Amino acid sequence: MTAVVEATDVAKTYGETVALSSASLSVEAGEVYALIGPNGAGKTTLVRALTGTTVPDSGSVRVLEGEPTAIDRDRLGVLPQDFSPPDRLTARELLTYYAGLYDDPRDPDDVLADVGLVDASNTWYENLSGGQQRRACVGATLVNDPDVLVLDEPTTGIDPAGRRTIWRLIEALTERGTTVLLTTHDMAEAERLADRVGLLADGALIAQGTPAALVADHAGSSRLAIETDADPQAFEDLAYPVVASGESDSKPHRRRQPDTIVVQDIEPADIGVVVDYLEGNDLEYSGLTWAEPDLEDVYLALADSTERERTTKMGTETDADAEDAPQTGETA
Ligand code: ADP
Repeated sequence: MTAVVEATDVAKTYGETVALSSASLSVEAGEVYALIGPNGAGKTTLVRALTGTTVPDSGSVRVLEGEPTAIDRDRLGVLPQDFSPPDRLTARELLTYYAGLYDDPRDPDDVLADVGLVDASNTWYENLSGGQQRRACVGATLVNDPDVLVLDEPTTGIDPAGRRTIWRLIEALTERGTTVLLTTHDMAEAERLADRVGLLADGALIAQGTPAALVADHAGSSRLAIETDADPQAFEDLAYPVVASGESDSKPHRRRQPDTIVVQDIEPADIGVVVDYLEGNDLEYSGLTWAEPDLEDVYLALADSTERERTTKMGTETDADAEDAPQTGETA
């Protein structure tokens, strides 16, 4: 396989902020690679380094085996996160304008059809909905029929129908062999589109692999949530580990209800064992919800633990600073 997009030990610091500490990734020809990670992890900085809009302090970047700044621009499409085209162009004028920058562009009307904007083709950009605007921007990256497409949060702000239009479009492009690097906060998007996913945290790739491999390695087991007011101790004799709501390591945001018991490491075929246990012990419950581990669990397990480590470290540093501070009650 040929690496089409490659970052090796890329570091970038802005003042005191380390945006990238040492980021390495490699996207093969025809692959869809999704970069995920918390806000501030360095995703946009890495995308900017890979597309030649920022120069790394150290490390190297290659696109189509060359420097990003030297690439044949007919072959690359880039959607920056903050792309903001002129407001007073219609969707068609916008794509026609961008098509005019290339020697052999696609027909703008075909691109409008691809991004689902035929009905809005005569609407000024400023009057398009937020989702339509983003789709027009995605369209602008497609007018040169690029071999490599780099999309920084292509579907942020797009409604579910528009998001699916973009997903189908990316799938159609990859069927034709286009290589795609995208960033996203949407785990369903990464899971559906990506051949491989890279999780960036604190400026470094902390996990990379196919969605299935990442889930198998990091997402924990399948589980059954029981909505019940019963005392967690009443589950002591159940043959599976249980955690009361708020105690599990995964999906904390889904477990805010104080009355949920999560049974872990359980196969679907064994749900009956739990139901028998509930009924045999007169434990009332109002619902059972089955959950397979997914990419969101990977994200929460890895990104959250990195965040916790950082917070702990910051707390420790703050304590150390406090110890170093003058003890005389002086104020600065
Ligand atoms: P992400 O895309 O994952 O949210 P970014 O790459 O945008 O992360 O940012 C990584 C870190 O670098 C953040 O702390 C951000 O504030 C900082 N940063 C990014 N670009 C700049 C810049 N041009 N000037 C100063 N700080 C920046």
